[in-house]
Amino acid sequence: MANELSLLNNIRPEIRAMSAYHVPDATGFIKLDAMENPYGLPDDLKAQLAQRLADVALNRYPVPTYDALARRLRDYAQIPDAFGLMLGNGSDELIHLLSMAISKKGEKVTILAPSPSFVMYRMSALLNHVNYVEVDLRQTERDFQLDVPAMVAAIALHRPALVYLPFPNNPTGGEFARADMLAVIEAARQVGALAVVDEAYQPFANHTWMGELATFDNLLVMRTVSKLGLAGVRLGYMAGRADLMDELNKVRPPYNINVLTEAAVGFVLEHAHVLESQAAQIRATRAVLFDGLSRLKNVTPFQSHANFICARFEDGDATFEALKARGILVKNMGKAHPMLHNCLRLSVGTAEENHALLTALAATGLP
Ligand SMILES: *Cc1c(COP(=O)(O)O)cnc(C)c1O
Repeated sequence: MANELSLLNNIRPEIRAMSAYHVPDATGFIKLDAMENPYGLPDDLKAQLAQRLADVALNRYPVPTYDALARRLRDYAQIPDAFGLMLGNGSDELIHLLSMAISKKGEKVTILAPSPSFVMYRMSALLNHVNYVEVDLRQTERDFQLDVPAMVAAIALHRPALVYLPFPNNPTGGEFARADMLAVIEAARQVGALAVVDEAYQPFANHTWMGELATFDNLLVMRTVSKLGLAGVRLGYMAGRADLMDELNKVRPPYNINVLTEAAVGFVLEHAHVLESQAAQIRATRAVLFDGLSRLKNVTPFQSHANFICARFEDGDATFEALKARGILVKNMGKAHPMLHNCLRLSVGTAEENHALLTALAATGLP
């Protein structure tokens, strides 16, 4: 027993104090908990993709510059050649690599982000000995917005190395006002901080910051193909000033994108219109779902520019359990932040899935 204990003692205490990232078993459920695209690829594309993957040389290491994939991503996301690009095994990996790159031995380095926002920002800071400062959002009538005076004051006080701005935000779903984003990016610039705009939900949003890379030299724009419909292949990418990206690319494991991912994303981007029309479909059904939620008694959906809707219920826990008992899995956010008390995060599914969700909500008998 003493031996066992000392073995576990080799693990950093802050890691032992953490709970593992829990993903519930969704077998048999209508799965509306993880912001996945509910539509698969059409059968003809699947067959072509299978052929493309069959031709991949699995015995060879990837070519670590990933030139062909980078070219496709630049064309797709309209990233000018003057800016650098970095690929990650999902944007989760990019978030970790950013923390790793800014963490300095024996020096207090800070990442600052609004709260509630994406949980990986905090996790990556913790794992890389980086201080993490959160600034609460403010709840408005329709959604959650940046508290600009509080953000600007916290940036001046903590002088972070990096500020995250998820746009749209997860788990609240909305876009932050443009003037507020500009004020925070500028405040970050004034203390020499990187401003990372996380556009994981860009396919469902109204605006992108990619076109503003030239305006702010501290701006990095991060994207992923996950929410677009390729969550399983794991590919994120980030664009920014070339010299910065050159440095950041040094911490990237050289073969972090496997050859199957490289081939699959390359292929799908040749047919990007398929995923784009699915995204358009999701935006349209999001409006129907929002409308349906608004009509239910004592449910407050918050405005969304993503492929999910954050909504407040009278009793979030009871509603979560009642949906689960009816075979629908959503994400209970009630404990994630005081501001999310009684809130559930509902992914936008197919029209049928959304209808099943609304029907189940009406049938729970809960107010
Ligand atoms: C889902 C999500 C990501 C992570 O995406 P992956 O590329 O799948 O790792 C990053 N940021 C936000 C805000 C997200 O919601």
